[in-house]
Amino acid sequence: MVGKSVKDPTAAAAGSVALAYHVRAVAKYYGVPVVLHSDHCAKKLLPWFDGMLAADKEYFEKFGEPLFSSHMLDLSEEPDDENIAICVKYFKKMAPMKIWLEMEIGITGGEEDGVNNEDIDPEKLYTTPEQVYSVYEALSKVGPMFSIAAAFGNVHGVYKPGNVSLSPEKLLTHQEYTKEKINSPLARPIFLVMHGGSGSTEDEIATAVKNGVVKMNIDTDTQWAYWDGLRKFEAEKRDYLQGQIGNPEGDEKPNKKCYDPRVWIRKAEESMCARVGDSMAKLGSVDTYTKSTVPGSQQCIVQRNPIEKVVSSLKTLF
Ligand SMILES: [Zn+2]
Repeated sequence: MVGKSVKDPTAAAAGSVALAYHVRAVAKYYGVPVVLHSDHCAKKLLPWFDGMLAADKEYFEKFGEPLFSSHMLDLSEEPDDENIAICVKYFKKMAPMKIWLEMEIGITGGEEDGVNNEDIDPEKLYTTPEQVYSVYEALSKVGPMFSIAAAFGNVHGVYKPGNVSLSPEKLLTHQEYTKEKINSPLARPIFLVMHGGSGSTEDEIATAVKNGVVKMNIDTDTQWAYWDGLRKFEAEKRDYLQGQIGNPEGDEKPNKKCYDPRVWIRKAEESMCARVGDSMAKLGSVDTYTKSTVPGSQQCIVQRNPIEKVVSSLKTLF
């Protein structure tokens, strides 16, 4: 999160923390609620996590709320006992600051963030209801603000159809198992997260949401969308991108308006924004919050305890 040339491991969180402050400074101008979340953190990256938590603590002491809304720990490479124990250890630090914890259990196929599960036995790509319950049992003793990324045949990345059998219907089994164990009045007592959402069909996403998925990751498809926006721009303007001066309109004509990074990065960003909107529609989250009409609206993360409000609104849904 800082430049690759910086070798000081304690600097790893500095970029994330700087970004969080930037988001806080500008979020209020967008009129929509913003959740600041850090994703996959494997065991070897815990110093990064520690750095972000230190920034959360500092912010909390001043303003009574954490800097970030939510953090994710991905210790799914470790044995389940160790995975859960480390999550409990961190969740105990996070819960008093009202920070959401997302954790992962079971094996998500493919490759992401340096964790490679491309050659895994396909049977292992499904988290069991017992595994999910053991997480619920341990974390619910600390607080209610946590979600579980359980594997149901999902893969980080996009592969040819046929290689992956996504089974979002299995998520209901997790809900039913835990519901019975804790005698919950809720049909879906667990907040689930869908990793590897890229390449999933509308039906698969709808089933996952119906079975308690409250967040979906779509890294690979948004990576492609970003590149695709740039790819189309380059194809359209190729003759204007071969030198600083000279294009089909004349040998003296400047091309600055085409190779300026602010132009072509914007094309990539517009394409990625459209792809995110597409997923929001499939997840059923479009227009679920009212956009504020107040100029410079405060309807954003600077509100007190927004995550708790999210929890209570989710509880009414499930
Ligand atoms: Zn994951």
